[in-house]
Amino acid sequence: MPRWAEFAAALDAVSRTASKREKVALLAGYLRRLPEEALRIACTYLTGRVLPAGDPDKLQIGWAAVVEVLQDLSGASDREVSELYLRRGDLGDVAAELVARRRTVPLFREPLTLEGAHERLRRAATVRGKGAAAARVAALRVLLEQAQPMEAKYLVRVLTGDLRIGLKEGLLEEAVAEAFDAPPAAVRRADLLCSDLGEVACLARRGELGTASLRYFRPFRFMLAGNLSDPAEALGGAAREVLAEDKYDGVRVQVHRHGSRVALYSRTLDDVTASFPELEDPLLRLAPAYIADGELVAWVGDRAAPFSRLQQRLRRLDPLAVAADVPVALFLFDLLKLEGEDLLDLPLRERRRRLEALAFGGSVRLAAAERVGDTRSLQEAFRAARGRGNEGLVVKRLDAPYQPGRRGRLWLKWKEPFGTLDVVVVGAEYGHGKRAGVLSDYTFAVWDGDRLRVVGKAYSGLADAEIAELTQFFLQHTVRDLGRFKVVEPRVVLEVAFDAVSRSDRHDSGYALRFPRILRVRTDKTPQQASTLEEVEALYRRQRQPEDLT
Ligand code: ATP
Repeated sequence: MPRWAEFAAALDAVSRTASKREKVALLAGYLRRLPEEALRIACTYLTGRVLPAGDPDKLQIGWAAVVEVLQDLSGASDREVSELYLRRGDLGDVAAELVARRRTVPLFREPLTLEGAHERLRRAATVRGKGAAAARVAALRVLLEQAQPMEAKYLVRVLTGDLRIGLKEGLLEEAVAEAFDAPPAAVRRADLLCSDLGEVACLARRGELGTASLRYFRPFRFMLAGNLSDPAEALGGAAREVLAEDKYDGVRVQVHRHGSRVALYSRTLDDVTASFPELEDPLLRLAPAYIADGELVAWVGDRAAPFSRLQQRLRRLDPLAVAADVPVALFLFDLLKLEGEDLLDLPLRERRRRLEALAFGGSVRLAAAERVGDTRSLQEAFRAARGRGNEGLVVKRLDAPYQPGRRGRLWLKWKEPFGTLDVVVVGAEYGHGKRAGVLSDYTFAVWDGDRLRVVGKAYSGLADAEIAELTQFFLQHTVRDLGRFKVVEPRVVLEVAFDAVSRSDRHDSGYALRFPRILRVRTDKTPQQASTLEEVEALYRRQRQPEDLT
């Protein structure tokens, strides 16, 4: 059986060369030698997952569990671990170092194999409920007791979802193509349909890539929209009819229904069905077998409520208990499979026709959409969508196929940027990975009278040089040192853009900015000139009356 040590050595060799071509060739050479089961496992791990997307079992061995086991085996103190991490910036490297310092060596050591290690992890993943966390820690402990430093390094990197070998998806697909002499485009297509590189590699080795198709309960990646810069562009200059759909502000979901089962998958391809039990019935009634795409929103008083309401729902442990307080509606806008037929390559016009024919009812609704052929009607459609409480429009070409995982110009989103604020940095934290040695994550606040109240936290979108400069500055102006996190003097003003303001008990202001992005350092403003809580409150109120915005 293929050894884990060979897998680790192959990944290490790949990480050592900077040449993409060489990386692909090295990996292809390794994959070619693997028997089928090991090939499936290795390729899934390469994508940063232990189990393929959509698998109902979840492994969830987090940072804390890994550190706990490593400390247990090596006797390293909290402080040693955090210093080591700050120095190396990667938990896999920390694991390699601590495993080398193990206090006890197992009596006999069986070499770790890909299949053996996977079997152990997979079994741990099936444990549900109370004993789940303990089962996962126990499995990890057995593996790390056996592992050599290099094996531990890649085991931990697999578990934390980032192999850091410089090979992202496209190149992994190339490596599979090269390993089995398959056309790269065929591998890519199969991967988009299956979202499981392990399965794709097995098909490629058998010469069966052409049989790849959408499968029920195997979620695949969503088609995304580009930004609309000019309404005329959506119409392609010449008068072309497009579909102007309401842009709902919620979370994207892919629905699979087959037999008596319904599943909802998030954009990260995680199974989120259990959070929305009330949708099961109407989704079962919609049609006997289908895959559909849509947006889930909080639905209050016959209109979409701000995203923050949905967030409450996503955080709750017992979804039925809050179903009554925060009702949801699911707006479907695309149909990708119906019974046994894949619809991806049909034009949107035809997919929409079939979607409209389904048996909608209850909280599952058809997304509002209108065909428009000139700029003026497009603008009217935008205003109407805002009037219905939605964010704007997604303008779609009627002749477009559904392209999984693509963000092109076939779909264009049109919304107003919500706002920007000038905020004062009150805390700075070390980042991860290549930002491990610099203070790159900032907690920021606005004025409430003469007090600063926190409204959010952002990972820096600044240039490396600016971050380095701010790091120096913050280290010299730390008022309380909490290790990774430093409370700093309120001296630096940043301009941040964001998509919405939500109510939040996470910060002492009672508000949080949604998706804050740092635009620049406002060296031209003193902290006293930063924004106020009143401005935040006004923005919060404004978004609740979207019609005022148009
Ligand atoms: P993106 O999703 O494009 O990466 P984002 O997460 O910042 O960016 P937005 O820019 O607000 O989101 O808009 C895109 C999102 O809008 C889609 O991913 C989808 O979740 C949502 N959406 C709402 N209504 C529709 C619709 N009718 N068609 C497609 N997407 C829609």
